[in-house]
Amino acid sequence: MRIDAIPATLSSREAPLKNAEAACTSQRQSHEALEKKKKDKEIEIEELREKAKKLKQRSSEVKNNKEYQAHLKEIEKGEEDLKTAEDVLLSLMESLEESSRRLKEEAARAAGEKTKVEAVRKDLEGEVQQRERELKELKEQRKKLVSRIEEGLYVLYTNIMKSSRGLAVVEAKNEICQGCNLHIPPQMFVEIKANDEIVECPQCRRILYYMRPEEEAPHTAGAGNA
Ligand SMILES: [Zn+2]
Repeated sequence: MRIDAIPATLSSREAPLKNAEAACTSQRQSHEALEKKKKDKEIEIEELREKAKKLKQRSSEVKNNKEYQAHLKEIEKGEEDLKTAEDVLLSLMESLEESSRRLKEEAARAAGEKTKVEAVRKDLEGEVQQRERELKELKEQRKKLVSRIEEGLYVLYTNIMKSSRGLAVVEAKNEICQGCNLHIPPQMFVEIKANDEIVECPQCRRILYYMRPEEEAPHTAGAGNA
């Protein structure tokens, strides 16, 4: 993998973690909303009980039958309200239990995804370090090689590198420049085959080299006119 592809790889691996964390946050929010409703309902029940208690205490103040009937009705209504509120509280408690269970599940899922991402991140960081070590090594090798190259040749090489987007030395294979596909003149190809002087492609100016067939990989042997 290329080093510059690593951040994208990591962020694509992070997607399931982000989803899990978002699901966990949303579950936590709905859980907290339920807890708030439960607290409100408990306060309401407390108030209804207080109201019922006061209402019963006022029974002695009732003066006649009509007032007594109205008073009884009020007590009955208060009891009904209390019963309704208690039912709602019960169902809220059930919902909270279910929500607690789901919250735990979502949290465990997010934690699992986090562990996975951490492992991927560690792997990728290891890969980056490995690549950096390799690059350092290659640069040192290059430095040694360059110090052995004749100065004029090195200037030629770096100029071609700049003008040919990084590819300065190419194979002359089957009399064709592998850099620009130019058909190399026969006399020039003979010179290249001799491998004892620097020959540049007349078209792309890249330095050409010849590789004897026995040095070629088996699948490229004889290729060209098939
Ligand atoms: Zn060429």
